[in-house]
Amino acid sequence: MRILFLLSFIWQLGVNFLYADEEHDLKAIQSLQKAIRFQTVSHDHSQMAYDEFNAFLNYLKETYPTVFSHYKGEVVEGYSLLLIPLKVEAHFKNYLFLAHYDVVPISAPKNWTVSPFAGEIKDGFLYGRGALDDKASLIACLEAMEAMLKNSHPVGANVYFAFGHDEEVAGNGARAMAARLKDLGLFFDLVLDEGGAIVEGSKLKVSGNLAMVGVAEKGFMVLKLSANEMGGHSSMPPEETSIEVLAKAVAKAHAVDFSTHLTDPVLQMLENLGLQTENPFKAFFLKNAKWFKPIITFILDNNKDTRPMIKTVKATTRILGGNKVNQLPQSAQAFIMFRTLPDEDIHQIKNRIESVIGDTRVTVEIMPGYSNPKQVSRLDTESGKKLISSIKKIYPDVRVLPYLTMAGTDSRSYAEISKATYRINPIEIYGKDLSSIHGHDERIKLSSFLNFIKFYKYMFGP
Ligand SMILES: [Zn+2]
Repeated sequence: MRILFLLSFIWQLGVNFLYADEEHDLKAIQSLQKAIRFQTVSHDHSQMAYDEFNAFLNYLKETYPTVFSHYKGEVVEGYSLLLIPLKVEAHFKNYLFLAHYDVVPISAPKNWTVSPFAGEIKDGFLYGRGALDDKASLIACLEAMEAMLKNSHPVGANVYFAFGHDEEVAGNGARAMAARLKDLGLFFDLVLDEGGAIVEGSKLKVSGNLAMVGVAEKGFMVLKLSANEMGGHSSMPPEETSIEVLAKAVAKAHAVDFSTHLTDPVLQMLENLGLQTENPFKAFFLKNAKWFKPIITFILDNNKDTRPMIKTVKATTRILGGNKVNQLPQSAQAFIMFRTLPDEDIHQIKNRIESVIGDTRVTVEIMPGYSNPKQVSRLDTESGKKLISSIKKIYPDVRVLPYLTMAGTDSRSYAEISKATYRINPIEIYGKDLSSIHGHDERIKLSSFLNFIKFYKYMFGP
């Protein structure tokens, strides 16, 4: 049975991956399969199945005994796991690797062609919630370190791990782990988290594949607009009900437009694309993107996929008010979600919205759990070069490109204790697989997962 599985597995990987480590590779894949089977789903606090989280942490301890004998495991904020090396070298750089093991719920089970928590292998892919986001990264980290320690393979940095348990909802685990690392007086030359992947270049109208490295990320906040205490009987209505007051406020907030402009991470991306483009006209144009800001901004603004790169965007996502059709509403609330550029500040945006509404009957407040990241890293640094070379050793033909990550990641919590933060899981994600993250039929290519382990070995190595 085992041999049969091994043979079918090798066949699925294709001949390119017929090398001496098949047995080890099989074990690594089985470790990810088992990891997927823990239903570590992020919900509101009250709905969390914390038994699964504890079981997952125990599973890691049992599966990676060598790592746990070389590291001090600290459980922070209940379920997040910090791994601190017992022995460090003073002349080494400090690297911190982040991943999270909570996953988003299955919102439409009928769309899945496999059971989301079975860890099924089909057509050279491993399926399951968390296969891409983000259990593959966590397991690849530990597989790589376990193998290196077991084989006494030298490491080239002091390697730390911080594995969050609530990235998909609040990121409290990351905040607590960052605070703990700060208390320990640690500072990192490099922090690596999710937030980029290897994608088809056609997305940016270039040939070949691109390894997109997030060098900054957009911020986010939800503003709550409330109109209160205007109740009474509908037979004697006031001039405006709370709903009417709120509706005007929402319309005014909606009309606020944010400027389109090129921020540093987007300029880095364009200049880098220019350096890697064969067409001399296009190369000149991109390499000197800062001279052509107006025209580039115009082009990016005219495409709904690229517009968020150059603009703070917003959307009213929820509205509440009134209980009965014949009763005046006591209060009404609206929620507006903002995704901000790194050079914009959420507190200034809040003040701007407040003054545009200009109505003392409406209160404007920032909901908890916002993110206001400011750190912008560069790839032309020592740690950036280390990252690029580790990717290139596995995927020599991909172009490595800095970019602005559109979503929030746990890494924002570590900005204060790091020199540079990069966001990429160098996994090949092509076609519709990109939307499988948080969607249905999430899956990782087996060969990509094995390469991911190799990538970490290069990152940890000298
Ligand atoms: Zn994630």
